[in-house]
Amino acid sequence: MTMAFIRLRRHAPEAQSTEMCSVCGARRPKDTKDHLMVGPPGTPAHDGAVCEACGTALDNVVRKFGADLTVTVEEAQHEASDRDITLPDH
Ligand SMILES: [Zn+2]
Repeated sequence: MTMAFIRLRRHAPEAQSTEMCSVCGARRPKDTKDHLMVGPPGTPAHDGAVCEACGTALDNVVRKFGADLTVTVEEAQHEASDRDITLPDH
């Protein structure tokens, strides 16, 4: 599997004609300010725009934890077991 990179160009003029944010999916005609490219450098497989809030969030993650990140996403399961839902009597 080839390594994919996420590259974000903040406040990029070329992104502002795209109305839909690639991250949150919101349609924000005047608020897609950042240019998002995902894929191998030079030949991004995804090329889109990101709204101000999502761009700021991505920016903060990279500032805080560094650009050399591997990100995985998983959903925590919320299967309540008997132990979790039974309260002690006292
Ligand atoms: Zn967004």
